[in-house]
Amino acid sequence: MSDEILIRKPLGGYLTIGGKRPAVVQTMCNTHTSDVEASVAQCLRLAEAGAELIRLTVPTRAEVQALAEIRTRLVAEGCNVPLVADVHFTSDIAIEAARVVEKVRINPGNFHPDFDKAKEQLARLVEVCRQHNTALRIGLNHGSLGKRITDLYGNTPVGMKEAAMEWLRMCRDLNFGQVVVSLKASNTLVMIEAYRLLAEAMKQEDFHFPLHLGVTEAGNGESGRIKSCVAISTLLEEGLGDTIRVSLTEDPAAELPVARYLSQRYSGTLPATPDPALAFGEYSAEQVRTMLDAACVYGKKLFDKEIDEVAPECPGQSEAFRAHLADELMQACRRRFYKSEYIACPGCGRTMYNLEKTFNEVQRRTAHLKGYVIAVMGCIVNGPGEMADADWGYVGEGNGKVSLYKGKTALRRHIPESEAIDLLLQLIEEDSKA
Ligand code: SF4
Repeated sequence: MSDEILIRKPLGGYLTIGGKRPAVVQTMCNTHTSDVEASVAQCLRLAEAGAELIRLTVPTRAEVQALAEIRTRLVAEGCNVPLVADVHFTSDIAIEAARVVEKVRINPGNFHPDFDKAKEQLARLVEVCRQHNTALRIGLNHGSLGKRITDLYGNTPVGMKEAAMEWLRMCRDLNFGQVVVSLKASNTLVMIEAYRLLAEAMKQEDFHFPLHLGVTEAGNGESGRIKSCVAISTLLEEGLGDTIRVSLTEDPAAELPVARYLSQRYSGTLPATPDPALAFGEYSAEQVRTMLDAACVYGKKLFDKEIDEVAPECPGQSEAFRAHLADELMQACRRRFYKSEYIACPGCGRTMYNLEKTFNEVQRRTAHLKGYVIAVMGCIVNGPGEMADADWGYVGEGNGKVSLYKGKTALRRHIPESEAIDLLLQLIEEDSKA
């Protein structure tokens, strides 16, 4: 069992992550953090919808300033939800953010490539965290592991585990225990294997850091929900996982009922009646609950190859619903692909275009394609790295421009948004004939 860590709440008291507590439900704002008004409004709405932790992106120093203002405004509104600063590239920004909010997420892959220098950066950050009672998430992602690790282990679950263990050992050496760790991937098999390997490695070194679970860039709709649920439920069933973020390319409030369902199901507190907030699009809450139940029943069995087919129970639903659910379950567990695989980040303060609308349009226009992995990413800073093993990528640059990728190579840059989907389809078609 993981150790409990206590995240201080801004108005007093603590949020516990780990131990025997049900998994903490969290989400992330998709506003621009520098837009204080919009970010405060979204945080209040997310807190109202049940978020126990809310993350905001902090790309530059300007956002640290905005974050401080958001923190003050939320306290004035009586909102007692701890905030997490999401910092990718600069340890200096992480250090500044650690003075402002209750938790900081860092991506070690983006710290200094030299191990000793990275250790110095972490030591300075930990010192500030200690002074301000701020917690830390070591947030590794498949796709942004850093050159040193990928040179040694490849872009693999083993590499993810090794990278996490390096950083956890550094935290232990610094005698700092306010740490949560995550190893996210959009490929569900990679994600599950990475967490299993990490759990085993932590056990061997007697580490008990709580785990933050998530399938990154899971997409949207029923596919995004089912993909997240099959993977997260597999780990929860094995007793792994202390906090959950279901990452959807939708309004972040839509993530919360799905994460809450998982937390309740695996803590034995799931109500018999479906949460009305589960409803989305054409699906009623009861239908979504049927999908999530099936994801939890079949996920682990499909991943572990205990079964080769599924026959989900769908009382009161049509045969078309049942068949579609079966297809989605098989695809989410990577056992059979009935359509292209879509990867889309949830968007955050770095996103400079209408990601949700574009992702829907890309899915609609590529629905006839099968067997590809197609990514739609919100920003040029993290998008290309995070889309991991996508065959094709649509990456927003900002200012109405888009880069189009084949694998890791940018085939076209600075394409106007209005032309980008047509060009993507043209490139895929030309490539298939080559
Ligand atoms: S890839 Fe998406 S979620 Fe990640 S930093 Fe960029 S816009 Fe935000």
